[in-house]
Amino acid sequence: MANPSRTDVLIIGGGLVGSAMATALASARVSVRVLERGARQTVYQPRNDGRVSAISQASARIFRHLGVWAPLEAAAEPILDIRVADQGAQAHVHFDHRAVGDAPFGYMIPNGLIRQTLQEAMEACDGVDVIYDAVVADLDRDAFRAAVSLEDGRSFEASLLLVADGRYSTMRERLGIPARLLDYDQTAMVCTIRHAKPHHGVAVELFQPAGPLAILPMTEQRSCIVWTETTARAQEILALPEDEFTAMLAEAMSGYLGALELLGAPYGYPLHLVQADRYVAQRTALIGDAAHGIHPIAGQGVNLGYRDVAVMAELVAEARSLGLDLGAWSLLEHYQRWRRFDATAMMATTDILNRLFSNDVAPLRLVRRAGLSAFERLTPVKNWFMLTATGFTGDLPRMLCDEPLSSAA
Ligand SMILES: Cc1cc2nc3c(=O)[nH]c(=O)nc-3n(C[C@H](O)[C@H](O)[C@H](O)COP(=O)(O)OP(=O)(O)OC[C@H]3O[C@@H](n4cnc5c(N)ncnc54)[C@H](O)[C@@H]3O)c2cc1C
Repeated sequence: MANPSRTDVLIIGGGLVGSAMATALASARVSVRVLERGARQTVYQPRNDGRVSAISQASARIFRHLGVWAPLEAAAEPILDIRVADQGAQAHVHFDHRAVGDAPFGYMIPNGLIRQTLQEAMEACDGVDVIYDAVVADLDRDAFRAAVSLEDGRSFEASLLLVADGRYSTMRERLGIPARLLDYDQTAMVCTIRHAKPHHGVAVELFQPAGPLAILPMTEQRSCIVWTETTARAQEILALPEDEFTAMLAEAMSGYLGALELLGAPYGYPLHLVQADRYVAQRTALIGDAAHGIHPIAGQGVNLGYRDVAVMAELVAEARSLGLDLGAWSLLEHYQRWRRFDATAMMATTDILNRLFSNDVAPLRLVRRAGLSAFERLTPVKNWFMLTATGFTGDLPRMLCDEPLSSAA
């Protein structure tokens, strides 16, 4: 059990990314305290947030390293093919996983299950102490430690503070790290449907003037829908009775997958892009959406967060094995150099895709339709996109190469 006041690392936010971070650090025998604002029972009985995450092959490998893959795999639907089309046009792009290997691009897994599985894993780790209902009152850092005090009077310190409190991070603000926030004026309507025809593991992205409609394969002949509209229009659609919502969705899907049944009420997620100006500050690093919140058009947001986890775990494990300070500036700079480029590139790609496709400007429509036809024939570029979807591109951290976290291990 960790020392009551001091641990090696403090993590603020025990969500999808914070809980994976704690579990990864524990595997390197680093002591961790997680301060989570939510109540423990709400995490264990997560409100179904409607979302089903596209988890890349690379993230699945991270889950294997963390020992949580077996329960997730049982509920995972492999993504075998991806089809991208412009509404009303013949042209489309078809990505077949067999062009880049035997494994699927990734898997569709319900968010609630990922969160609960990681929560259980984190709580079961030696050296991880999780404090729920944690309301942070103050943050303080100096040359020797990062300290956090809670409103209930408890205070904690560590060599390194990791901030994982999500896209609308209040801790980022308290640390004085500016962030660029862009309102897309789009809302993603998310729901699960059962359908008459099989999906054959195909993920479909249909571009409509107001935003993409994604139809993502799930187990048991179900699919997750991420249907993006302007925020005003989405509010009208979400206010409809369920049968009218289902009828509108069926029309938008043009009969693809046959008759539909809505499984539970749809949820609305207003979409924003958030990019922190820097990912590090004295003894502190931002991870997950607190550093980079991107458009869900490519289903890559939390995958970027898991890559942060793999990189940070490696840098901390290496520093630990060499007896170095875990909050040293050199480690933090290394993390920022490694992660910022990758996250910014993905952010720019998703932003451009959204701008190019989510509009009805006639010249752009012509260009993108011609572009889709040309793209379909550009095999090397298509292959690069497919590799990016698997998550195995760029400078890979050890966890993604199935190597021990530190070179000394
Ligand atoms: C519609 C939609 C679909 C998406 N689909 C995909 C997909 O298919 N694939 C994909 O990779 N990504 C997807 N994403 C992105 C993904 O959901 C996010 O990247 C992910 O939730 C980020 O995880 P996180 O842990 O960084 O933040 P969060 O999930 O926001 O977790 C933050 C945690 O911090 C806690 N917290 C907040 N404030 C405090 C505080 N002050 N003190 C203590 N704790 C605090 C919260 O309670 C929470 O537990 C999607 C996003 C949307 C909106």
